[in-house]
Amino acid sequence: MMTNEQPDGAIHHGLYIGGQWRAGHAEQYEPVYNPATSEILAYVVKADVEDTREAIRAARQAFDEGPWPQMAPGERSRILHKVVDALQEHEEELADLEMNNGGCTWRKAHLMDIPVGLLHFRHFAKLAGFEPLEPVPQITFPSLSYNFVQREPIGVCGQIIPWNFPFMMAVWKIAPALAAGNTIVLKPASLTPLSALRMFEIIAETDLLPPGVLNLITGPGATVGSELAQNPLVDKIAFTGSTEVGREVMRQAAGTIKKVTLELGGKSPNLLLDDAELDIAVDGSLWATFMHNGQACESGSRLFVPDSLYDEFMARLIDRASKLVVGLPADGFTDLGPMISRSQLERTESYIQIGIEEGATPVLLGRRPDVPELANGHFISPTIFTDVRNDMRIAQEEIFGPVLAVIKYDRLEEAIRMANDTIYGLAAGVWSADVEKAVKVATGLRAGTVWINDYHIISAEAPFGGYKQSGIGRELGTWGLMEYTEVKHIHADLSRTRDARFWYDILTPRLD
Ligand code: NAP
Ligand code: MG
Repeated sequence: MMTNEQPDGAIHHGLYIGGQWRAGHAEQYEPVYNPATSEILAYVVKADVEDTREAIRAARQAFDEGPWPQMAPGERSRILHKVVDALQEHEEELADLEMNNGGCTWRKAHLMDIPVGLLHFRHFAKLAGFEPLEPVPQITFPSLSYNFVQREPIGVCGQIIPWNFPFMMAVWKIAPALAAGNTIVLKPASLTPLSALRMFEIIAETDLLPPGVLNLITGPGATVGSELAQNPLVDKIAFTGSTEVGREVMRQAAGTIKKVTLELGGKSPNLLLDDAELDIAVDGSLWATFMHNGQACESGSRLFVPDSLYDEFMARLIDRASKLVVGLPADGFTDLGPMISRSQLERTESYIQIGIEEGATPVLLGRRPDVPELANGHFISPTIFTDVRNDMRIAQEEIFGPVLAVIKYDRLEEAIRMANDTIYGLAAGVWSADVEKAVKVATGLRAGTVWINDYHIISAEAPFGGYKQSGIGRELGTWGLMEYTEVKHIHADLSRTRDARFWYDILTPRLD
């Protein structure tokens, strides 16, 4: 079974295990919704622990006995390029699926999520041809030896991804893991499994990867996800999602000392310096905050504005934000689609309430639109709070909704101090006409990515990941690839005499 159309016309997706599509043991399915309309798009298997273990065993066998980990890097690279070619042929279809299931706008799905995801995949196809051997000089011991470091795949990788960028997150997980020669069990978010399922169908149809290299399992995080984190046959767990669940995943992985990488939440500061160019800083700050309704881990959700620019900048920002169009994702005029779920919508509303109770001023107050065609979706318009203090909950806690906290500042040093006063450290923005000054500020910010005069631009070649409680490890670029490798030092002693090895005397001194 790949996808199976039931009598009522609804598509039922299977699990992909060991190169086969199949139902779960319990034959249970869960509906998957369109967040703009609440219509059911398809059903996916509600896998249990036994299904998960089967997927892990398939990945284990493919790693221990299959050709993929042993393959020459150039050969893996050639195969991955063909995989990307196949996905590219389905670009439009994947973008529509991402829009319908993920609630992102047509523009975002078609201009960003799928094409950029494919660029990132393509880059890892290239990096797959990397040289796994690196000579190292032998200097601490005088004997004649040859030393090198060999990069090897880690093994079976359990990968858990969130609902906010379903396709791109699947790429960021599987592409580097495959490029380095690992085998995989991927668990998409229960709300948004459809683009990953389609990705796996397309890859399966190419017949390019040996069975068991890629496995996909749908089902609840608390059972499927936690089995991946705990199972002793899994060598590495890679997780993207909330800091709270990330902590739990790390705890669960501790039992078997798995390799762990985590990409977690943020409350990223966006800093205007007093010479910021308002023409780009206004739209740039809106882009930083409200892209995908603020449902991005790196969203610039705390905005620091200097006194000197405050009145003019805020007037322009509020004016532009109030004109953002909330609507159906497929409508080309829509700027903001729905939130992913009723609970994300309610969470956003509860934080708006918290902000008001904390004494911040909602200069733009988000509301559910009173439009009949949006009544079944999880829509809300943007909120901007001013008079925010950095110690308020709306400035410290990740809302993951279209809510901006604006903090006015007087001295730059004070703004930098407040920007760093957070448990998070994923990203930051700096806006200034003086790039030299902006770089100095960037250096003082404790975050994994700092954008100067831009935001959200994530390059295939550059590392992405968090300081502090925003995560462990990096994704993308060679840094992301290396997170999927073990490092082996091989030391070959080339001298053939006992004399050259004085250290043997420590145990077995020669008495002559
Ligand atoms: P989440 O609970 O962290 O879910 C992320 C992934 O982890 C999903 O695949 C989820 O599966 C899985 N999961 C859940 N519980 C698990 C467990 N005990 N062990 C292993 N895996 C588990 O995120 P959420 O509930 O969707 O969103 C809650 C908040 O997380 C958001 O409001 C936001 O603040 C934050 N968030 C951050 C990011 C990010 O990119 N940093 C992304 C998404 C959400 P199920 O889908 O089956 O639950
Ligand atoms: Mg959750």
